Amino acid sequence: MKLKIAIQKSGRLYEESVKLLKDCGIDLKNGVNKLKTESDNFPMEIYFLRDDDIPQYVEDAVADIGIVGENVLLEKNKKVDIVEQLGFGKCRLSVAVGRSEMYTGVDYLRGKKIATTYPVLVQQFLDKNNVEADIHEISGSVEIAPGIGLADAIVDLVSSGSTLFMNGLKEVETVLKSQAVLIRNQSLGDAQQLILEKFLFRIRAVKRARNTKYVLLNAPNEKLQEIIALLPGMKSPTVLPLAEAGWSSVHSVLSESDFWDIIERLKDAGAQGILVVPIEKMVM
Ligand code: ATP
Ligand code: ZN
Repeated sequence: MKLKIAIQKSGRLYEESVKLLKDCGIDLKNGVNKLKTESDNFPMEIYFLRDDDIPQYVEDAVADIGIVGENVLLEKNKKVDIVEQLGFGKCRLSVAVGRSEMYTGVDYLRGKKIATTYPVLVQQFLDKNNVEADIHEISGSVEIAPGIGLADAIVDLVSSGSTLFMNGLKEVETVLKSQAVLIRNQSLGDAQQLILEKFLFRIRAVKRARNTKYVLLNAPNEKLQEIIALLPGMKSPTVLPLAEAGWSSVHSVLSESDFWDIIERLKDAGAQGILVVPIEKMVM
């Protein structure tokens, strides 16, 4: 029995999806087959598909699970469950208009032509704001639509905003914030569910580790209390005596988000020789 997973065959989610499998210790066979491969050391079969098709394939149980952007999932509106947010493929679906336009709020869009590849999400956004506008669904290069007179505004995916900038546009509203998610067929068999749980256990350990750093530092004993108070840690930090009298070595973990803040305060409190090490896996 194998768990079938659908991932993007090329594009922005491909590398991170393959990396997630690898970090979960799931080795992929290097075959010539571009559509499908399997793992030697985990009961998993991997299908490489266009991201737009993944929700449908998972709903139809062609694949048991899949990795896809929330933006695609919500646009397609398929009957699948979201099992886990994966923390990569972060982007936003945004409204953009010409840089010199006076944008005053969503009302600006009333009666305007909006080009997008996400007609469903745009319609929902307009309805929510009680604005009627004319949605033009196009299949790609949405950002050039205003420049060639095809639309007054666009709704497209943005991460840094440089594509908008190069096309003379500015971002004015966020329709949706998105990241890659793991989705699941709604009537998974028991055997598949069991494999999925093993996979999820590993994914969570990898995600935790990605958000965490291991910190080692030296502290004068009279400053230990103050320094320990700054460290959240999984339990309390490990404190070991150093060979030099009056000094200790303190080991702990820190989350990526408050990392710089805490490192500075540790230094101010008298910590020395601070070493920061990436963590590979973190099992709770
Ligand atoms: P496919 O050939 O599989 O249909 P695609 O061209 O539709 O690929 P990509 O551009 O590879 O899709 O993007 C895949 C997903 O990556 C998007 O749906 C989105 O969830 C995510 N993503 C992250 N950042 C961005 C970005 N800056 N622009 C577009 N998509 C992004
Ligand atoms: Zn696509």
